Amino acid sequence: MRYTVGIVGGGPIGLLVAGGLAERGVNTVVFEEHENVGLPLHCAGLVTSRVLSLTPFPSENLVLNRIKGAVIHSPLGYKLSIGGDRIHALAIDRIAFDKAMMNYAIEKGADVFLNNKVEEMRSYNDEIKIKTSKEELSSRFLIGADGAASIVRRVFNFPQPMEYLKCIGVNLLDTSFNPNYVEIFLGLNIAPGFFAWIIPITPRGTEARIGLCVNRDKLPPKHYLDKLLNHPEVQRGTERSTIINYTGGIIPLGPLKKTVKSNILLVGDAAAQVKPTSGGGLYPGLSAAKYCIDAISRAVDLKTPVLIEKALQNYHLSWMKDIGRELLFDMKLRNVFLKLTDDKIDAILRKIDQPIILETISKYGDIDYPSKLVRYMIRNHPLKAASFLPYLFRF
Ligand SMILES: Cc1cc2nc3c(=O)[nH]c(=O)nc-3n(C[C@H](O)[C@H](O)[C@H](O)COP(=O)(O)OP(=O)(O)OC[C@H]3O[C@@H](n4cnc5c(N)ncnc54)[C@H](O)[C@@H]3O)c2cc1C
Repeated sequence: MRYTVGIVGGGPIGLLVAGGLAERGVNTVVFEEHENVGLPLHCAGLVTSRVLSLTPFPSENLVLNRIKGAVIHSPLGYKLSIGGDRIHALAIDRIAFDKAMMNYAIEKGADVFLNNKVEEMRSYNDEIKIKTSKEELSSRFLIGADGAASIVRRVFNFPQPMEYLKCIGVNLLDTSFNPNYVEIFLGLNIAPGFFAWIIPITPRGTEARIGLCVNRDKLPPKHYLDKLLNHPEVQRGTERSTIINYTGGIIPLGPLKKTVKSNILLVGDAAAQVKPTSGGGLYPGLSAAKYCIDAISRAVDLKTPVLIEKALQNYHLSWMKDIGRELLFDMKLRNVFLKLTDDKIDAILRKIDQPIILETISKYGDIDYPSKLVRYMIRNHPLKAASFLPYLFRF
């Protein structure tokens, strides 16, 4: 059997691309190694409303809780509260999100083969042979939407992400957190190289996701999770709670310089389309997916390899111009963050704790585009910015 497009990975990004291509009449197949999409869960499910606007179906019903602000805990115990005035983020049902994406892909006419792990791929001029645990077939185009540890990226020698975060989390019942606020914990002894989080996922704060990512530590993430669960600020909301399950996974950071090679493309986590400041990959991946759909649906009508590759390269140029530039800027912010000591983080949070800065962050802060706030502060409040930016940029 020969398909026009073969997609490795039935995550939300691969499924969105599959549905979009099928809708445009492109004969598309998705291979997903697991029996069910969305499982095992590797996500905290915190997104902005932009993610819902990028789904091609009504998705408001997937929202579990609306988040209005953040409490940031410094490594030395200082607490900074930001926002609270309007909805900044949404906690979504990630498993239902992936299922809805699969239903969309199937409804539009894509074939979705579950329980089909792609084991081998070989490229022959204008065709890629794909061998899965159950099938052997070929496609004219191949898309690697197979997540952080992408086999497509490895087999076809694409560049690797700049770094990986190792993550772990728990879902808890019977918590008593303020439902309006996420809580963020910073510090080398809490989550070296990243941060830990509490996300209340019900409007009364009675269920929560608690987790963290680490980068440069020899100790496993579980070591930090156990400590986090004993942190007094966490215990405050978990005294009567029970852990219902563990989640985990890896997050790739640093968008790839190359995401197209002849008739092969990478998208989503496979292309490290992930926000380096928050680890969120849904918004950048879904944003890039639309360029992937456009480029392939143009390329299918072309005959010569040169024209085809040129059409596909438009995908890389377009997503880089759109979200890629932001990801590169955020990678710079991350590199600054990585150099901060616990003392400096504490000092920065204390400096930020002034009404005008907090109002500005609440008004202009954007989880998807952190650069907007930095640029706004430098342009409109240079003196205020100067009072804490040196902590970030002078060592
Ligand atoms: C702990 C954690 C918390 C996170 N929290 C958030 C958050 O709050 N907000 C947010 O926006 N993002 C978050 N992310 C990131 C987000 O989960 C990813 O960016 C998103 O899932 C990327 O989607 P994807 O479709 O590219 O990849 P994935 O969702 O990883 O899907 C890839 C799919 O490919 C399949 N696959 C892999 N190899 C093969 C193979 N050989 N054959 C067949 N199938 C294969 C996998 O089974 C998987 O289903 C988090 C990630 C982690 C690890």
